[in-house]
Amino acid sequence: MSLRPLVIGNWKMNGTPAGATSLGSQIAVALQGSSVRVDAALCPPYPLLAPLASGLATGRVDLGAQDVSLHPDGAFTGEVSARLLADLGCRWVIVGHSERRSLCGEDSQTVASKAVVALNAGLQPVVCVGESLEERERGATEAVIAAQLAPLGEFLHQAGAKAVIAYEPVWAIGTGRSASPEQAGQVHAFIRARLASRGINTSALRILYGGSVKPDNAASLFAVSGIDGGLIGGASLKADDFVAICLAAAAARASS
Ligand code: PEP
Repeated sequence: MSLRPLVIGNWKMNGTPAGATSLGSQIAVALQGSSVRVDAALCPPYPLLAPLASGLATGRVDLGAQDVSLHPDGAFTGEVSARLLADLGCRWVIVGHSERRSLCGEDSQTVASKAVVALNAGLQPVVCVGESLEERERGATEAVIAAQLAPLGEFLHQAGAKAVIAYEPVWAIGTGRSASPEQAGQVHAFIRARLASRGINTSALRILYGGSVKPDNAASLFAVSGIDGGLIGGASLKADDFVAICLAAAAARASS
């Protein structure tokens, strides 16, 4: 890890208004009190953005969202626009999480379009890619990820250092079975090489790993060159765990 690490928490559909303020505040205070060099953000469900923002008032931890609409405004029931997210104080937005791809039918072209829309509204998109277990077992990991990266050219050229990719093997998300540092490192190297071969400057591009990152495996994952931080699901719902993962990312950066 050599770029400044980034650790993003994805709360998924969890939390309450009071709990969001409290959890956000515990995390912000813990990171505020330390001089660790790490960028940290939390992405709650939409209705918890405002309560979480009040808990994060110290500004040491950023606010983010879990998805964004393709559309600027209008008759799109249930959708939330990039402009509104920016107005609510979001800096980051996750796009193309595997749960959006599998449960909501989002394809890679839609994900790429969302990334451009978010970028144009001033947000920093975190684009998720990753293979299923079946795809890994039949040796299709690189082909699947190459296909997911393919429509991202416009976004990546436009975004420069604002772009973030998250490699999240689907079989590791929420399963307690993380990719090994070797497995994650191989795919991160593949992603970087693939994008470089398409003329994209990857020197400032952060590539995160996500999938069952916990305090006890974070250090070994973040020690791998090219893993620039993490996208954290379950462990981001516990202040101590999320802070420990942030500290592990900062420590890995300090020793690289
Ligand atoms: C995720 O939801 O993006 C994720 C990585 O979840 P978990 O950390 O719980 O595996």
